[in-house]
Amino acid sequence: MKTFENLESEVRSYSRGWPTVFEKSKGYKLWDTDGKEYVDFFAGAGTLNYGHNNDAMQEKLIEYIKNDGVIHSLDMATIPRQDFLERFNEVILKPRNLDYKIMFPGPTGTNTVESALKIARKITGRETVISFTNAFHGMTIGSLSVTGNSFKRHGAGIPLHHAVSMPFDNYVEDHDSIAYLDRFLEDSGSGVALPAAIILETVQGEGGINAARMEWLKKVEELCRRWDILLIVDDVQAGNGRTGTFFSFEPAEIKPDVVCLSKSIGGIGLPMAITLIKSEYDQWGPGEHNGTFRGNNMAFIAATEALKNWENDEFAHAIQEKGAFLKSEINRLIDQYPELNGEAKGRGLMQGISIDKEGLAEDICAEAFHRGLIVETSGPDDEVVKFLPPLIIDQEGLEKGLKILEDSIKHVLK
Ligand code: PMP
Repeated sequence: MKTFENLESEVRSYSRGWPTVFEKSKGYKLWDTDGKEYVDFFAGAGTLNYGHNNDAMQEKLIEYIKNDGVIHSLDMATIPRQDFLERFNEVILKPRNLDYKIMFPGPTGTNTVESALKIARKITGRETVISFTNAFHGMTIGSLSVTGNSFKRHGAGIPLHHAVSMPFDNYVEDHDSIAYLDRFLEDSGSGVALPAAIILETVQGEGGINAARMEWLKKVEELCRRWDILLIVDDVQAGNGRTGTFFSFEPAEIKPDVVCLSKSIGGIGLPMAITLIKSEYDQWGPGEHNGTFRGNNMAFIAATEALKNWENDEFAHAIQEKGAFLKSEINRLIDQYPELNGEAKGRGLMQGISIDKEGLAEDICAEAFHRGLIVETSGPDDEVVKFLPPLIIDQEGLEKGLKILEDSIKHVLK
């Protein structure tokens, strides 16, 4: 096997967990320099919902570059940019009756979160933002301040004093964290200032595949309306169809004030982010939020092609069916291997098995890699084996991956 020289900073992590050199990828598969095949249950941390090297996107990109299309990312109107805006409005926003302005905040997930926090503060004139335990919103200072992971925050000396963390849904058994927050807000002496916004993931990806109940999401929205607080949904990981609908919050029938999208919005893995802002809150003047790489034309080409998947319900239905199959297999594994003390988590194709034994989830993932499955852990103690396959995966791919997973579980429990 081709080894790699250790030239990168120690902070690199995936290359330690998956110690090989990858060379090729297609659909739900990757190959390393030895030609060894891997099934992908990771999808570039959710950036490759449409699979690796999607043929149609690849062709469109090659054609665009060959025809000397405009490459840079500044705010000039270009055909790819206009096409994306129009198609996104037609295919995604209008059918869902959503009236948002589309903003390009910068190239990555953390850029859209930062822009959301900033606009909420500007609109309300308030400073505090409420976030939730085990949330993950990105690694820049504002996003980290609302991230419920002290390991990630401490090195940088965060939290900021403007962020307050509340218990996520189900985090404490039989405990309604929203009623609790309501009490705090009513009691102005409690120290919780009226916040500018509440930010949440409907399914916490890095925090352990914790899926909020729809009733809880509705309650959060209702509290926001009552107190005139902006609701920000960070759909960077759970959006783009990952949970079975384009936006993860659709089944809850809520309308967030601001929505953050990134990862798979760029279709083929090109960096791209958008912030959706309710029209009445689109109050930034020119230059108030800018940045050089806002809106890459190549990403727009792939992103517009990706939207074709959402022109009818077929793609979403297929995700829901595959998700149901994955859930039944997860439950079967939990029943068949009681030593795991497992718990099924998540929805759509964003699922996991929480394993109540220290280090076991990590051992299973390491063994799975060795056997040709790319799968990572999540959760505060890396206790969840997290399944995030490309959404285009077929039945054969799911079965192949699950077989490797089961063989790895058997091996590790031996
Ligand atoms: N929000 C969520 C919910 C995420 O999962 C992530 C990335 N894992 C981010 C924000 C940050 O995105 P990025 O790494 O692209 O900055």
